[in-house]
Amino acid sequence: MELTVLGGSAAGPNPGQGCSGYLVHSGQTRVVLDLGPGTLPELRKHANFRTLDGIVVSHLHVDHWLDLLALRFALTYNPVPPPGPIPLWLPPGGCTLLNRLAGAIADSAQASAYFSVLDVREFDPAGELSIGDLRLRFQSTVHYVPCWAIRVSNGRDGDLFYTADTGPAADLADFALDSSVVVAEGTVQIDSKEDISTRGHLTPEEAALLARRANAEFLVLSHLWAENNPFAALAACQEAFGGSVELGVPGLTIRWGQTIERQIGGC
Ligand SMILES: [Zn+2]
Repeated sequence: MELTVLGGSAAGPNPGQGCSGYLVHSGQTRVVLDLGPGTLPELRKHANFRTLDGIVVSHLHVDHWLDLLALRFALTYNPVPPPGPIPLWLPPGGCTLLNRLAGAIADSAQASAYFSVLDVREFDPAGELSIGDLRLRFQSTVHYVPCWAIRVSNGRDGDLFYTADTGPAADLADFALDSSVVVAEGTVQIDSKEDISTRGHLTPEEAALLARRANAEFLVLSHLWAENNPFAALAACQEAFGGSVELGVPGLTIRWGQTIERQIGGC
């Protein structure tokens, strides 16, 4: 399995770095988890955006889906058209949001077909989603809106676990147990004054402890503000995790099966 980070910033883009977006590649299957602002340009370096097997959105905060609008324009107006609609899996309530967006942007005669370049559906968080070579399962997190962490398996390599956005009270370690690669958010600083039971984000240390309890081999620390000193966050995370940690930056690619390799840069 292969993971490529498309962004890695928190709720707004950092300089040169978009928000949440992750390309997962297994066999002939390519799936994108979240497509936040600024992630489509990075996606285009690594995959043909017209032939993705699916896009799955963890929750309805704008930093996790805004480039769906940019993708809709690219699919509609790029001189090389897509062979067909791209499957888009939204969390519960996502179809209503997309219909409201279309109603606000398009005139009423065009609104119903506005997202016709996407095959839009909602996933059932209690179920399993099969997309090509990959199977996805979901676990609700503690965030400020309903949000689901995602575990991705191809049945051969170790699993990928993506926290999406979550606070520590979600206790996702059991769901993430024995995954090979964990992508964890580490948005807030250790001196956060928010109530830990309702806080909707992790500190870098909490991200590290989650990955350690999950027995993961590799941690990608992501969803960070440039203003919060990502390199200090990385150092704190490495100390608490004890294994390999990388900052989630655009173009970081982790490839694993028998062994884990990392590289930075587009293909
Ligand atoms: Zn977010």
